[in-house]
Amino acid sequence: MKKYFAMILAGMMAVSLAACGGSSNAPAAAPAAEPAAEAEAQTEEAEAPEAEAQTDAAFTTVAAGELHMATNAAFPPYEMTSDNGGYEGIDVEIATMIAQKLGLELVVDDMEFGSVITSVQSGKADIAMAGLTVTEERMKNVDFTESYATGVQVIIVPEGSDIQTVDDLANDKMIGVQDGTTGYIYCSAPVEDGGYGEDHVTSYTNGAMAIEALKGGKVDAVVIDNEPAKAFVAVNDGLKILDTEYIVENYAIGISKDNPALRDAVNNALKELIADGSVQTIVDKYITAE
Ligand code: GLN
Repeated sequence: MKKYFAMILAGMMAVSLAACGGSSNAPAAAPAAEPAAEAEAQTEEAEAPEAEAQTDAAFTTVAAGELHMATNAAFPPYEMTSDNGGYEGIDVEIATMIAQKLGLELVVDDMEFGSVITSVQSGKADIAMAGLTVTEERMKNVDFTESYATGVQVIIVPEGSDIQTVDDLANDKMIGVQDGTTGYIYCSAPVEDGGYGEDHVTSYTNGAMAIEALKGGKVDAVVIDNEPAKAFVAVNDGLKILDTEYIVENYAIGISKDNPALRDAVNNALKELIADGSVQTIVDKYITAE
């Protein structure tokens, strides 16, 4: 498993650098949206040849004035439903601020994790933001922004389990994962590639269902990203996270390859939010340092 992770990591590092290419220094103007006061001021100042500025900044979204975010809102603390029937979490708040910068209103489209990339690819949503790890394979289907967070795949087991290390997973154990995730990809890989093979993996629609299966004894362990793992273990008695060193993954926003203007506008907004500390403030609100 470690060998396989290392291979993926090498790929991802190259990939995430390549993903960040392309930038536009024109202020992002949203067609059919009320420009923010700031954006108006910038436009006046710039007074650049009208047509050219248009070309640089013009982007389209699936619905005028809206930024549709494809996500799976069962991945705390990145995205989850809130008590008032809406959505909250790190990704939701970052996306809200990006939308604001672009003069758009954020709309959360909740779906299975396995659909978030295809939804963006097929033009049903504008951004895929779902604690989405940058991988070389996914880069063939969507463009990624700069990374705004990191994740680590961890193993959850019942307290008292005989699984104590990554290697113990190889002993005929059944591993629960979320369908289509990197945890699934790593674990279901053939043994010769460092995985455990399809026969040792059961996929669930989301993390909560995998945890229920673990509690019910249908699987021996669950492999999932570290922050959702902590959130699930905190509200389910009798489970623990194994202390194993796994590779670090980069989370980024996926955007259609057919919409480079939107990619640049979203990427620039995200970079500003990283630079001015807004992203860190949001992360700190949901993740308390141990
Ligand atoms: N980071 C993992 C992936 O991208 C899991 C994401 C998720 O389940 N929302 O595959």
